[in-house]
Amino acid sequence: MDDGRVGVYLHVPFCERVCPYCDFAVVAVGRLAAAREDRYVAALLAELAGRRGLFEGRPLASVYLGGGTPSLLRPDSVARLVAGVRAAFPEAEAGLEVTLEVNPSRLERERLPGFRDAGVTRLSVGVQSFDDRSLKVLGRAHRADEARATLEAVAEAGFRDVSLDLIFGLPGQRLADVERDVAEAVGWAPGHVSAYELTVEADTPYATAVARGQLVRPAEDDVLAMMDAVGEGLAAAGLHAYEISSYARPGRESVHNRRYWQRRAVLGLGLGAWSCEPPRPGAEHGARRVNPRGLDAYLARVESGRPAAEAPPEVLDAATARSEAAFLALRTARGLDAAGFAAEFGLRPRDLYAEAIDELRAAGLLQEDASGDLRLTPQGRRLSDSVFERFV
Ligand code: SF4
Repeated sequence: MDDGRVGVYLHVPFCERVCPYCDFAVVAVGRLAAAREDRYVAALLAELAGRRGLFEGRPLASVYLGGGTPSLLRPDSVARLVAGVRAAFPEAEAGLEVTLEVNPSRLERERLPGFRDAGVTRLSVGVQSFDDRSLKVLGRAHRADEARATLEAVAEAGFRDVSLDLIFGLPGQRLADVERDVAEAVGWAPGHVSAYELTVEADTPYATAVARGQLVRPAEDDVLAMMDAVGEGLAAAGLHAYEISSYARPGRESVHNRRYWQRRAVLGLGLGAWSCEPPRPGAEHGARRVNPRGLDAYLARVESGRPAAEAPPEVLDAATARSEAAFLALRTARGLDAAGFAAEFGLRPRDLYAEAIDELRAAGLLQEDASGDLRLTPQGRRLSDSVFERFV
């Protein structure tokens, strides 16, 4: 539901090379040439200028530079982008969250003080694993020692708000490997951890290798045990699961990520970026817009003053919006607030999903309290996809 503010997401598609499991909008560049970087940054700022009107006057809630590998940008480019967003939305809270995703590499380590001076307040470090074998299986460009060196440099540069990314469920990975990853992650005392199960996306080299039997994924039960180990290890260190894949110390939850789960307004800029547009007459439940994934098409459209997305935004009808509201809220520890849901849609969750709620409760996957609020049980979190599909 709309909170009257706006979060801004800037997608930077460049990566040193493309990891075989990745299906994000990315472009392999090796080293990012200055002219290419400058052209893309200019396009992002032009897109911002063309689209800010829809969000005019809204206080800025968060800024997130994601990718791709946004830390391949020079600090002066990051500074231009952050300043551009702040100028477009001058009203911002003190202590505004400005997140930059960082990959562990020497080049990026050297730039950390520059990123800090550019206005970045929070880093999301793509560690993925502290085990070289796992990093090799993932096809990542870095090794564990580089991740450690980056985390040291992050602390030296004075960043206090740090998130680590971990991935589990890799081919050949064992429970003990995941437990070691979690233990080392906790040792770095991050305020936030995102821990994702590896998913094999269609049309990736990974999907081909799995189909050919060249990569064998761990059994489902083993992956569930890994998920439990992640949750237990992080909880023991004071990082609570506030969303299915997101863990934080109190007060360190990601402002930006929460906006998506709460269906708040987000202006997404750049290749393949998604926007959540706020409700307006004719779009009472808001609208969604997605940018093209091809770099040339994106640049050509933006540089000629046209909207980045060729298609008009998708206006959400009530049924789609209800369904999204339900399963996005169920991703979070807070769960689905029945009164808030009724305020927006005129019906309580039970009025619409009584059969699903009763069956999921009987299966031990869902809790319903006296006020009608819904929450996943621990077992429901493990089998969340089978819960969510009942609300679609
Ligand atoms: S570094 Fe991240 S965004 Fe880039 S290719 Fe690898 S997984 Fe994808």
